[in-house]
Amino acid sequence: MARPQAHKSKTGRNDPCWCGSGKKYKDCHLPIEQAHRAEQLKLREAQDTLLPKIIAAAQSVPEAFPAAFEQFWQGEYTPDQMGELDDLEERGAERFLVWFAFDYVMESGTTLVEQLAQVADVEGFEVDAYEKRLLESWINIRMRPYQVAEVHKGKGVTLRDLLDGDICEVADYAAAKRLNVDEVVIGHITPADRPFDAEKPIGYFAGAAAQLTADTAAKLVEFAELHLADLRRTQADATWSDLLRRRSYALNHFVMALPREEDDPSLLDKVVFDARVSLQLTADAISGLLGRDAPEASEDAANAPKEDTGEDAANAPEAPEPDATKR
Ligand SMILES: [Zn+2]
Repeated sequence: MARPQAHKSKTGRNDPCWCGSGKKYKDCHLPIEQAHRAEQLKLREAQDTLLPKIIAAAQSVPEAFPAAFEQFWQGEYTPDQMGELDDLEERGAERFLVWFAFDYVMESGTTLVEQLAQVADVEGFEVDAYEKRLLESWINIRMRPYQVAEVHKGKGVTLRDLLDGDICEVADYAAAKRLNVDEVVIGHITPADRPFDAEKPIGYFAGAAAQLTADTAAKLVEFAELHLADLRRTQADATWSDLLRRRSYALNHFVMALPREEDDPSLLDKVVFDARVSLQLTADAISGLLGRDAPEASEDAANAPKEDTGEDAANAPEAPEPDATKR
């Protein structure tokens, strides 16, 4: 087994192959690498063509939108506002449709992407062999929160999953321009082509993602932990994946609760506090459900957001700012 770096330097066609077989490169790994590259290029192209097909399929089942809107937008918007969503929320319509396709569990008990992967090539949804391969590998993709670990100018970004810590490389020239290290993105990363010497496929942003400032990361994890603790009340061994399968929409509720413009750290505390109240979780219960030691003293009062002494009625709990994405 050759090490990846062994053939980073250009091996000539007639040179001994980098793998150490003793054969010439052109008679050994050159054709294998060429075939791999050609195949991966097809997958890369399929990434571009498949997503619009999935979005179109999502738009063809509007009867499922009311219930899905209720989940994703927390009752804030109704499907007849679909046309305005891009104004009301940064790229809101696209973010909803991608979530709807990948995450929303339909009456059949499956997601749209799962359904499409099963019935590909019927009912007007036609995919080629490469698109079908991708579709099958996208069944488990859900909306997730990531923090930007590195920005590779002109290429893409390295993202760290805020929940399980996994690292993924995302090829996206535009994202590399737009994102800064430590910022948070909540969206769908779909794997596609895999370079010959890479262990994992390269990821791509599937449609729009919400972009949040770096200071939201810790609170977002805290917020997600509340939901995980709540899920563990009924499913003691629930994992992050279980949580995202059932309630990835909660991530969008966090996004919706953030202020559009000004920095207001107390608002972040309030988002977490409100979630804790609505889930009726005490600090002790959270610790227990997450398998941690309970905090020293009762933190319930201390964790409450500072009261704003009522000078700002517009920031009352029932009226969060309508947008979430950083601009
Ligand atoms: Zn070889």
